[in-house]
Amino acid sequence: AEAHRYAVFGHPIAHSLSPEIHKAFATQLGIHLSYEAIDAAPGRFEQAVRRFFAEGGLGANVTLPHKNAAFALAAKRTEAATRAGSANTLTPLVNGAIEAHNTDGSGFVRDITERHGFDLRGHDALLLGAGGAAKAVAWALVDAGVQSLTIVNRTPERADELADAIGEPARCYTRYWDGLDGESFNLVVNATSIGVLGGSFDLPTSILKDHSTCYDLSYGVAAAAFKGWALAAGVRPDWFRDGLGMLVEQAADAFERWHGQRPDTDPVYRMLRERF
Ligand code: NDP
Repeated sequence: AEAHRYAVFGHPIAHSLSPEIHKAFATQLGIHLSYEAIDAAPGRFEQAVRRFFAEGGLGANVTLPHKNAAFALAAKRTEAATRAGSANTLTPLVNGAIEAHNTDGSGFVRDITERHGFDLRGHDALLLGAGGAAKAVAWALVDAGVQSLTIVNRTPERADELADAIGEPARCYTRYWDGLDGESFNLVVNATSIGVLGGSFDLPTSILKDHSTCYDLSYGVAAAAFKGWALAAGVRPDWFRDGLGMLVEQAADAFERWHGQRPDTDPVYRMLRERF
Protein backbone atom coordinates (compact mmCIF):
# COMPACT_ATOMS: atom_id res chain seq x y z
CA ALA A 1 0.00 0.00 0.00
CA GLU A 2 1.10 3.56 -0.62
CA ALA A 3 2.52 5.16 2.49
CA HIS A 4 0.59 7.87 4.30
CA ARG A 5 2.04 11.21 3.21
CA TYR A 6 3.37 13.96 5.45
CA ALA A 7 5.65 16.88 4.60
CA VAL A 8 7.39 20.01 5.83
CA PHE A 9 7.10 23.23 3.80
CA GLY A 10 9.73 25.97 3.94
CA HIS A 11 12.08 28.10 1.89
CA PRO A 12 14.87 27.09 1.98
CA ILE A 13 14.05 23.59 3.19
CA ALA A 14 16.97 21.36 2.16
CA HIS A 15 18.56 21.35 5.63
CA SER A 16 15.34 20.76 7.58
CA LEU A 17 15.68 18.01 10.18
CA SER A 18 11.92 17.42 10.29
CA PRO A 19 11.87 14.51 7.78
CA GLU A 20 14.57 12.69 9.71
CA ILE A 21 12.88 13.33 13.08
CA HIS A 22 9.40 12.23 11.95
CA LYS A 23 10.75 9.14 10.19
CA ALA A 24 12.69 8.17 13.32
CA PHE A 25 9.53 8.53 15.44
CA ALA A 26 7.56 6.46 12.93
CA THR A 27 10.17 3.69 12.87
CA GLN A 28 10.17 3.62 16.66
CA LEU A 29 6.37 3.13 16.76
CA GLY A 30 6.07 0.83 13.73
CA ILE A 31 4.13 3.42 11.72
CA HIS A 32 4.48 3.36 7.93
CA LEU A 33 4.67 6.85 6.42
CA SER A 34 6.44 9.04 3.92
CA TYR A 35 7.65 12.51 4.96
CA GLU A 36 8.93 14.91 2.30
CA ALA A 37 10.64 18.29 2.44
CA ILE A 38 8.84 20.63 0.02
CA ASP A 39 10.40 23.92 -1.04
CA ALA A 40 7.75 26.57 -1.63
CA ALA A 41 8.83 30.05 -2.59
CA PRO A 42 7.00 32.94 -0.91
CA GLY A 43 3.77 33.51 -2.82
CA ARG A 44 3.53 29.83 -3.79
CA PHE A 45 3.06 28.40 -0.33
CA GLU A 46 -0.74 28.35 -0.10
CA GLN A 47 -1.15 26.76 -3.50
CA ALA A 48 1.50 24.14 -2.72
CA VAL A 49 0.04 23.16 0.62
CA ARG A 50 -3.53 23.00 -0.71
CA ARG A 51 -2.37 20.78 -3.56
CA PHE A 52 -0.54 18.53 -1.10
CA PHE A 53 -3.72 18.01 0.93
CA ALA A 54 -5.90 17.62 -2.19
CA GLU A 55 -3.56 14.83 -3.30
CA GLY A 56 -4.04 13.01 -0.01
CA GLY A 57 -1.42 14.51 2.30
CA LEU A 58 -2.38 13.88 5.92
CA GLY A 59 -0.33 16.50 7.73
CA ALA A 60 2.14 19.30 7.07
CA ASN A 61 4.72 21.03 9.18
CA VAL A 62 5.58 24.57 8.27
CA THR A 63 8.80 26.47 8.86
CA LEU A 64 10.35 29.80 7.84
CA PRO A 65 9.11 31.89 6.13
CA HIS A 66 5.60 30.44 5.90
CA LYS A 67 4.36 30.17 9.48
CA ASN A 68 2.22 33.33 9.28
CA ALA A 69 0.80 32.32 5.90
CA ALA A 70 0.00 28.88 7.33
CA PHE A 71 -1.99 30.55 10.09
CA ALA A 72 -3.75 32.87 7.64
CA LEU A 73 -4.98 30.16 5.26
CA ALA A 74 -6.55 28.00 7.96
CA ALA A 75 -10.32 27.66 8.39
CA LYS A 76 -9.86 26.50 11.99
CA ARG A 77 -7.18 27.58 14.47
CA THR A 78 -6.26 26.07 17.79
CA GLU A 79 -5.71 28.33 20.78
CA ALA A 80 -1.95 27.73 20.57
CA ALA A 81 -1.90 28.89 16.94
CA THR A 82 -4.05 31.93 17.68
CA ARG A 83 -1.82 32.97 20.56
CA ALA A 84 1.29 32.73 18.36
CA GLY A 85 -0.44 34.19 15.30
CA SER A 86 1.44 31.56 13.35
CA ALA A 87 1.26 27.84 12.68
CA ASN A 88 3.83 25.07 12.33
CA THR A 89 1.38 22.16 12.09
CA LEU A 90 -1.42 21.89 9.52
CA THR A 91 -4.00 19.13 9.40
CA PRO A 92 -6.61 18.66 6.64
CA LEU A 93 -10.26 18.79 7.65
CA VAL A 94 -13.23 17.92 5.40
CA ASN A 95 -13.95 19.79 2.13
CA GLY A 96 -10.45 21.19 1.70
CA ALA A 97 -10.49 23.11 4.97
CA ILE A 98 -7.28 23.18 7.00
CA GLU A 99 -6.64 23.33 10.75
CA ALA A 100 -3.70 25.38 12.03
CA HIS A 101 -1.88 24.47 15.22
CA ASN A 102 1.38 25.59 16.82
CA THR A 103 3.62 23.30 18.87
CA ASP A 104 6.52 25.68 19.48
CA GLY A 105 5.34 26.77 22.94
CA SER A 106 4.55 23.27 24.17
CA GLY A 107 7.81 21.96 22.68
CA PHE A 108 9.82 24.67 24.41
CA VAL A 109 8.26 24.01 27.82
CA ARG A 110 8.63 20.26 27.53
CA ASP A 111 12.28 20.60 26.59
CA ILE A 112 13.25 23.04 29.31
CA THR A 113 11.25 21.37 32.09
CA GLU A 114 11.43 17.65 31.29
CA ARG A 115 14.76 17.33 29.46
CA HIS A 116 16.70 20.01 31.29
CA GLY A 117 14.88 19.80 34.62
CA PHE A 118 14.31 23.56 34.89
CA ASP A 119 11.25 24.33 37.02
CA LEU A 120 9.81 27.51 35.51
CA ARG A 121 7.50 28.30 38.42
CA GLY A 122 8.35 31.44 40.32
CA HIS A 123 11.15 32.58 38.05
CA ASP A 124 11.72 35.98 36.48
CA ALA A 125 12.14 35.44 32.75
CA LEU A 126 13.48 37.74 30.05
CA LEU A 127 12.40 37.04 26.49
CA LEU A 128 14.32 38.52 23.55
CA GLY A 129 12.14 38.84 20.46
CA ALA A 130 8.45 39.22 19.65
CA GLY A 131 8.09 37.20 16.44
CA GLY A 132 6.04 34.04 16.00
CA ALA A 133 8.30 31.80 18.06
CA ALA A 134 8.62 34.42 20.80
CA LYS A 135 4.85 34.74 21.03
CA ALA A 136 4.44 30.99 21.42
CA VAL A 137 7.18 30.88 24.06
CA ALA A 138 5.82 33.93 25.94
CA TRP A 139 2.40 32.32 26.41
CA ALA A 140 3.99 29.01 27.34
CA LEU A 141 6.19 30.67 29.98
CA VAL A 142 3.19 32.43 31.53
CA ASP A 143 1.13 29.22 31.48
CA ALA A 144 4.04 27.36 33.10
CA GLY A 145 3.92 29.78 36.03
CA VAL A 146 6.86 32.16 35.73
CA GLN A 147 6.69 34.92 38.33
CA SER A 148 7.26 37.63 35.75
CA LEU A 149 7.94 37.88 32.06
CA THR A 150 9.82 40.80 30.55
CA ILE A 151 9.91 41.14 26.77
CA VAL A 152 12.36 43.20 24.73
CA ASN A 153 12.24 43.49 20.98
CA ARG A 154 14.06 45.52 18.35
CA THR A 155 10.68 46.88 17.27
CA PRO A 156 9.27 47.80 20.69
CA GLU A 157 5.65 48.06 19.48
CA ARG A 158 5.61 44.32 18.80
CA ALA A 159 6.73 43.59 22.36
CA ASP A 160 4.01 45.91 23.68
CA GLU A 161 1.38 44.17 21.54
CA LEU A 162 2.46 40.78 22.84
CA ALA A 163 2.41 41.92 26.47
CA ASP A 164 -1.02 43.50 25.94
CA ALA A 165 -2.34 40.29 24.38
CA ILE A 166 -1.16 38.24 27.35
CA GLY A 167 -2.57 40.92 29.64
CA GLU A 168 -3.13 41.10 33.37
CA PRO A 169 -2.52 39.48 35.77
CA ALA A 170 0.36 37.79 33.99
CA ARG A 171 3.05 40.18 35.33
CA CYS A 172 4.23 40.72 31.80
CA TYR A 173 6.33 43.79 31.08
CA THR A 174 8.14 45.26 28.12
CA ARG A 175 11.43 47.16 28.11
CA TYR A 176 13.53 48.84 25.50
CA TRP A 177 16.49 46.77 24.35
CA ASP A 178 18.83 49.23 26.12
CA GLY A 179 16.52 49.72 29.10
CA LEU A 180 17.43 46.73 31.25
CA ASP A 181 19.88 48.35 33.68
CA GLY A 182 19.03 47.46 37.25
CA GLU A 183 16.96 44.40 36.40
CA SER A 184 17.99 40.75 36.61
CA PHE A 185 16.49 37.46 35.55
CA ASN A 186 16.80 33.73 36.31
CA LEU A 187 16.10 32.82 32.72
CA VAL A 188 16.97 34.64 29.50
CA VAL A 189 15.44 33.20 26.33
CA ASN A 190 16.63 34.24 22.88
CA ALA A 191 13.76 34.01 20.40
CA THR A 192 15.23 36.46 17.88
CA SER A 193 16.69 35.43 14.55
CA ILE A 194 19.93 37.32 15.27
CA GLY A 195 21.88 34.04 15.17
CA VAL A 196 20.61 33.38 11.65
CA LEU A 197 20.40 36.88 10.19
CA GLY A 198 23.22 38.60 12.10
CA GLY A 199 23.13 41.30 14.75
CA SER A 200 24.46 41.59 18.27
CA PHE A 201 23.26 40.89 21.80
CA ASP A 202 23.97 44.26 23.26
CA LEU A 203 22.75 43.56 26.80
CA PRO A 204 24.27 44.47 30.19
CA THR A 205 25.76 41.50 32.04
CA SER A 206 23.96 42.80 35.13
CA ILE A 207 20.75 41.21 33.84
CA LEU A 208 22.10 37.82 34.98
CA LYS A 209 21.78 36.51 38.51
CA ASP A 210 24.33 34.13 40.06
CA HIS A 211 22.77 31.02 38.57
CA SER A 212 20.88 32.21 35.53
CA THR A 213 20.02 29.89 32.67
CA CYS A 214 20.23 31.11 29.08
CA TYR A 215 18.14 29.33 26.45
CA ASP A 216 18.49 29.93 22.72
CA LEU A 217 15.73 28.76 20.38
CA SER A 218 18.43 28.49 17.69
CA TYR A 219 20.77 25.53 17.48
CA GLY A 220 23.91 24.64 15.55
CA VAL A 221 25.96 27.53 14.19
CA ALA A 222 22.99 29.88 14.64
CA ALA A 223 23.28 29.43 18.43
CA ALA A 224 26.89 30.65 18.49
CA ALA A 225 26.09 34.37 18.78
CA PHE A 226 23.88 34.18 21.87
CA LYS A 227 26.05 31.50 23.46
CA GLY A 228 29.04 33.78 22.94
CA TRP A 229 27.27 36.59 24.77
CA ALA A 230 26.08 34.30 27.58
CA LEU A 231 29.44 32.70 28.29
CA ALA A 232 31.25 36.04 28.15
CA ALA A 233 28.64 37.37 30.59
CA GLY A 234 29.50 34.56 33.02
CA VAL A 235 26.83 31.93 32.44
CA ARG A 236 28.14 28.45 33.25
CA PRO A 237 28.47 26.40 30.06
CA ASP A 238 26.07 23.71 31.28
CA TRP A 239 23.47 26.39 32.04
CA PHE A 240 23.32 27.40 28.42
CA ARG A 241 20.75 25.45 26.38
CA ASP A 242 20.16 25.56 22.65
CA GLY A 243 16.93 24.87 20.75
CA LEU A 244 17.73 21.37 19.49
CA GLY A 245 15.62 19.75 22.20
CA MET A 246 12.75 22.13 21.45
CA LEU A 247 12.99 21.18 17.78
CA VAL A 248 12.56 17.50 18.68
CA GLU A 249 9.75 18.19 21.19
CA GLN A 250 7.74 20.43 18.85
CA ALA A 251 8.03 17.68 16.23
CA ALA A 252 6.85 15.09 18.77
CA ASP A 253 3.81 17.23 19.61
CA ALA A 254 2.91 17.46 15.90
CA PHE A 255 3.52 13.72 15.49
CA GLU A 256 1.27 12.91 18.44
CA ARG A 257 -1.48 15.14 17.05
CA TRP A 258 -1.45 13.25 13.75
CA HIS A 259 -0.76 9.71 14.91
CA GLY A 260 -2.26 9.64 18.39
CA GLN A 261 0.91 8.17 19.86
CA ARG A 262 3.71 9.91 21.70
CA PRO A 263 7.23 8.96 20.54
CA ASP A 264 10.20 8.65 22.89
CA THR A 265 12.15 11.79 22.02
CA ASP A 266 15.36 10.98 23.91
CA PRO A 267 16.98 8.63 21.37
CA VAL A 268 16.21 11.06 18.53
CA TYR A 269 17.56 13.98 20.55
CA ARG A 270 20.77 12.07 21.37
CA MET A 271 21.24 11.10 17.71
CA LEU A 272 20.96 14.74 16.59
CA ARG A 273 23.06 16.02 19.50
CA GLU A 274 26.03 14.04 18.19
CA ARG A 275 25.93 16.23 15.08
CA PHE A 276 25.18 19.63 16.65
P1 NDP B 1 10.33 35.93 13.19
O1 NDP B 1 10.87 36.41 11.90
O2 NDP B 1 8.85 35.84 13.39
O3 NDP B 1 10.88 36.89 14.37
C1 NDP B 1 12.23 37.29 14.39
C2 NDP B 1 12.53 38.05 15.68
O4 NDP B 1 13.93 38.38 15.70
C3 NDP B 1 11.78 39.37 15.78
O5 NDP B 1 11.50 39.62 17.15
C4 NDP B 1 12.80 40.38 15.24
O6 NDP B 1 12.62 41.69 15.73
C5 NDP B 1 14.07 39.79 15.82
N1 NDP B 1 15.29 40.22 15.09
C6 NDP B 1 15.68 39.86 13.84
N2 NDP B 1 16.86 40.42 13.52
C7 NDP B 1 17.23 41.17 14.60
C8 NDP B 1 18.35 42.00 14.89
N3 NDP B 1 19.35 42.17 14.00
N4 NDP B 1 18.42 42.60 16.08
C9 NDP B 1 17.43 42.42 16.99
N5 NDP B 1 16.34 41.65 16.79
C10 NDP B 1 16.24 41.04 15.60
O7 NDP B 1 11.04 34.53 13.45
P2 NDP B 1 10.53 33.31 14.35
O8 NDP B 1 9.89 33.86 15.57
O9 NDP B 1 9.77 32.36 13.54
O10 NDP B 1 11.91 32.58 14.74
C11 NDP B 1 12.87 33.17 15.60
C12 NDP B 1 14.03 32.21 15.83
O11 NDP B 1 13.61 31.07 16.56
C13 NDP B 1 14.65 31.68 14.54
O12 NDP B 1 16.05 31.75 14.64
C14 NDP B 1 14.19 30.24 14.47
O13 NDP B 1 15.13 29.42 13.83
C15 NDP B 1 14.06 29.89 15.93
N6 NDP B 1 13.06 28.82 16.15
C16 NDP B 1 13.46 27.62 16.68
C17 NDP B 1 12.56 26.61 16.90
C18 NDP B 1 13.00 25.31 17.50
O14 NDP B 1 12.24 24.35 17.47
N7 NDP B 1 14.19 25.20 18.04
C19 NDP B 1 11.13 26.77 16.56
C20 NDP B 1 10.81 28.08 16.01
C21 NDP B 1 11.75 29.04 15.81
P3 NDP B 1 11.62 42.72 14.95
O15 NDP B 1 10.27 42.46 15.48
O16 NDP B 1 12.16 44.06 15.34
O17 NDP B 1 11.75 42.44 13.48
